[in-house]
Amino acid sequence: MTIEDNSLQTFDDFGLHKDILKGVHEAGFRVPSPIQQESIPYIMKGMDVIARAQTGTGKTAAFGLPALHFSRDVSGVNVLIIAPTRELASQVSDELYRLGRFAGIRTVAVYGGQSISRQVDLIGRGAQVVTATPGRLLDHLKSNRLKDKFSPSIVVLDEADEMLDMGFIDDIEAIFGYIPEERQTLLFSATLPKEIRSLAQKILKQPVSIDVIPKEIATPTDILHRYYVIEEREREEALVRLIDTDAPQKALIFCRTKKETDLLSTTLISRGYVAKALHGDMEQSQRNEVMDSFKKGVIDLLIATDVAARGLDITNITHVINFHIPFTPESYVHRIGRTGRAGKKGTAITLVTPLEFKELSRIKHASGVTLDYMEVPTIHQAKKHFKSELLKKLENQPVHEEAVEIMSEFTEEYDVMEVAYKAFSMLLDQRRIDGPNRIGLSSRKVTKLLYNSKKQSHSGRKHSYKPGKKYKRR
Ligand code: AMP
Repeated sequence: MTIEDNSLQTFDDFGLHKDILKGVHEAGFRVPSPIQQESIPYIMKGMDVIARAQTGTGKTAAFGLPALHFSRDVSGVNVLIIAPTRELASQVSDELYRLGRFAGIRTVAVYGGQSISRQVDLIGRGAQVVTATPGRLLDHLKSNRLKDKFSPSIVVLDEADEMLDMGFIDDIEAIFGYIPEERQTLLFSATLPKEIRSLAQKILKQPVSIDVIPKEIATPTDILHRYYVIEEREREEALVRLIDTDAPQKALIFCRTKKETDLLSTTLISRGYVAKALHGDMEQSQRNEVMDSFKKGVIDLLIATDVAARGLDITNITHVINFHIPFTPESYVHRIGRTGRAGKKGTAITLVTPLEFKELSRIKHASGVTLDYMEVPTIHQAKKHFKSELLKKLENQPVHEEAVEIMSEFTEEYDVMEVAYKAFSMLLDQRRIDGPNRIGLSSRKVTKLLYNSKKQSHSGRKHSYKPGKKYKRR
């Protein structure tokens, strides 16, 4: 995201408690972003706000910092944030934990697929900030599991338009039936279709409207985009195969969650790669250390979440690999913008499962990027590729004086050919290509998927996107 440096306000001007400001400082935020500048003063005054802002503009801190400020001395749930997906809910919850931890604020993310009793327990143990997906929250409220533990005085709807698209609008209205009338309500949305405006009329009181026009997203052009269609269980093998064949000098690998970054880096390290994870839970000093070693080439694979990679400014990344497809087209563009910098060529690789195919089409249409379908190389192809790369490297390899000396020593005892065979074998031993011969879907199946997704996007349903047009995220 771009933060204007010529801003008039600083974080100190908002009247936030010093412990909250410490969180801001530790997070490395120097200047409030436009959405923060515009909305924080009103939210601090206790007013309702309806804001048009996209992901990546700093909107979480825009509603989060005042919400945290007002939650310092409260025992029990003071803030409820409703977010469309689990991933966003846990991302928001983590970001608010990070910003509020010096004020002792506890946060909990509540979404489906997690233990119900654990969630109720965490809420009951005094979390002040609850970030929830609509379905699971309504489930808790209907079954009266939260009893008297739940009467938030600040309620935030985050990415309201996504919730509308996902069919959550009725759930949201139902949720408001369980929330005290006396409250401050904030609605953040990338777009404001009429359904969202009419919802706003029902739940907000004399809101201040804030509109931060998103900057156009520019798609870098020096990048080749490839995607591979695989089954979920093949993700790791596919990644490893692609790393082995492409042999990237410096690759930034994106995962959706922090847990995945940790898991993947452990797996890659145990398979002999030099990799490290970068995520928001790490202390700033740790993060700097990791980024530094990536910059210097001490590690060549960096595994990161979107949030962690935001501030990353490294010029010679040769590959951006989407181990998981990003949530939005905008995030795709942000991610791949990390390669192909300073006039250099870059490669963007995306792994998708058939279930994620729709998301891929959405990215293609909204970003206007041409993504080429490729098959994951078989072992045979990977070995062939390795061989041709090896020969290229040999051709370009300057001969060291020391090597000449060593060779003449060796040839006193061994035959020249024998030394050459041994040296080649050593090089081949460094090759890691293994795993199943074939990974990913056959091109016949992918053609079928492509055909189906085209049919859907032509069927006039609501998700038909026009390239170049400002798109609505889902
Ligand atoms: P969001 O739009 O809330 O998803 O935020 C996007 C990213 O910007 C997150 O990684 C935040 O931690 C970061 N961020 C938020 N506010 C600022 C700021 N004022 N300065 C620098 N980074 C920020």
